[in-house]
Amino acid sequence: MELPKLTHGIDRLMEIARQRQAEAGDPKLGPAPRQCSCCKEYYPVDQFPRLPPTDLTKGAIDAVCAKCSQDYAKELKGMWRLLCGGCNEVVGIREPEKAKAGFAFEAGKSYHVAGCPICVSPPPKQSQILEMVMFYRARGIPYD
Ligand SMILES: [Zn+2]
Ligand SMILES: [Zn+2]
Repeated sequence: MELPKLTHGIDRLMEIARQRQAEAGDPKLGPAPRQCSCCKEYYPVDQFPRLPPTDLTKGAIDAVCAKCSQDYAKELKGMWRLLCGGCNEVVGIREPEKAKAGFAFEAGKSYHVAGCPICVSPPPKQSQILEMVMFYRARGIPYD
């Protein structure tokens, strides 16, 4: 069965989450180095900036390292982020885009999913972006 178009988008967004899950390693050994989604280098977790808290996250740890955050500050300001309320992680960073019925992902904003492949097992086939769910619900439009 082919997944709806938006879901393909979400699926790509979840790539960062899958990467995090892969590097989680052995919990007894403490946090594994974390790969920057921008330069692909590995750094300790404390080398990643924390985002401001949102309604659903307590200051998610960014997917981009401190150095890239500085080097690409301007570009990153023009992107939006997908945050997971389940595990407090950034699971996607993308350029602004429009979805159906006028829903827009805007630069600098954060959107949320309730769970992602890091914190939900088995990994969700489809993760709904909560802001879209509310937008469509308010207008009586089906999500998919
Ligand atoms: Zn980096
Ligand atoms: Zn999660």
